[in-house]
Amino acid sequence: MPSVVTLVDRVLATVDASASEIVDFTSELIRVPTVNPPGEAYDDCARLIGDRLATCGFDVEYVAAEGMTEHTAAHPRVNVVGRRRGRALRPAVHLNGHFDVVPAGEGWTHDPFGGLVRDGRIYGRGACDMKAGIAGAVYAAEAIRRAGIELHGSVEISGTVDEESGGFAGAAYLARHGRLNAKHADYCIIPEPLNVDRICVGHRGVYWFEVTTRGRIGHGSMPFLGVSAIEHMGLILDRVHRDLLPALRSRATAVPVVPDGARHATLNINGISGGQPVDGIQTPCIADVCRAVFDRRFLLEEGFDAAKAEIQDLLNTTATETPTMRYDLRDLMVVHPVRTPQGSPVVSSLERSVQKVLGRPATQVASPGTYDHKHVDRIGGIRDCVAYGPGILDLAHQPDEWCGVDDLVNATKVLALSILELTATV
Ligand SMILES: [Zn+2]
Repeated sequence: MPSVVTLVDRVLATVDASASEIVDFTSELIRVPTVNPPGEAYDDCARLIGDRLATCGFDVEYVAAEGMTEHTAAHPRVNVVGRRRGRALRPAVHLNGHFDVVPAGEGWTHDPFGGLVRDGRIYGRGACDMKAGIAGAVYAAEAIRRAGIELHGSVEISGTVDEESGGFAGAAYLARHGRLNAKHADYCIIPEPLNVDRICVGHRGVYWFEVTTRGRIGHGSMPFLGVSAIEHMGLILDRVHRDLLPALRSRATAVPVVPDGARHATLNINGISGGQPVDGIQTPCIADVCRAVFDRRFLLEEGFDAAKAEIQDLLNTTATETPTMRYDLRDLMVVHPVRTPQGSPVVSSLERSVQKVLGRPATQVASPGTYDHKHVDRIGGIRDCVAYGPGILDLAHQPDEWCGVDDLVNATKVLALSILELTATV
């Protein structure tokens, strides 16, 4: 039986020998413009990934998000799942990547859907977020096979839709329908672009809500005869500014969220509108309605109930001081924070692999925003889930998005070594 060192070296050499194929596959994926919204060319991209997985020895299944309103004839939501079992079914590692991308936007100097490779970089919308990660996952598993190693356990790889819009027809759908859950997999790695030496162990929570104040319309020349909903919203915003924001800034999480500012609880006002505009022209009346949308990111230590109660208290206090004020609070979206358990084998394995491949220690981080980890954990029940993949986080969603070829090759090696390790023992 060959030594472990020999196996590892064989796998690393195989990834190096496959480098141009991994880069080419990333470019091919970029050339399928899977723009979300509205969700273009999902079927084509699912087939491209599925065909490659089949070539690499996977059993492939396509899972359309039947029953979801976003799954339409014009924009079908098609996910793909591949499974390759070793001598046994378990342990199993699932690698999940979303193949939807945000719109290209302005400011590009290269074709966003050209997949250009120049000076060691692959350019295009989705290059780092996260088509390179999908290519890396596929070729990590393939390198093990080409090195002639039969795994003890299984590898699953899925390509999913709609992460950029919540992932409900994508990772959440697979988790709910038994394709991405603890019944089949022990570990999950999501190769999102978080920098090649960082392991992401979770994200903060989201409480997205709308506040509407309601007044009474009247002639603008006699404001004393009506009730201005905008003035009342102003009182709420003033209290947010004076009381809430300083309180949020004073709270910090023990979870290693990056960048530093996101270690604290935050609140952003996404938008505000009021009055009675008609075709963009404001009527000369007292504003009888005003709406504002708020984006509160809460910490694991705060929890959703406390975050919401704090908002309700603020609104109640303001209304108590202002007897004519009427308001509604409406929840738009709630995402609970997730955190990979301390001492999780998926983290320690990736730490060892990063050290081996890059020759430096990995850093644990958590994401300021949310991604598909929540679905894998809360719906799929796979607690041992992290994000680790090629690419620089700051380049995601930017013009001239790119992923370094060296990052891609290194991340593929790290993923391959961790697949090898995590499927070896229960
Ligand atoms: Zn992403």
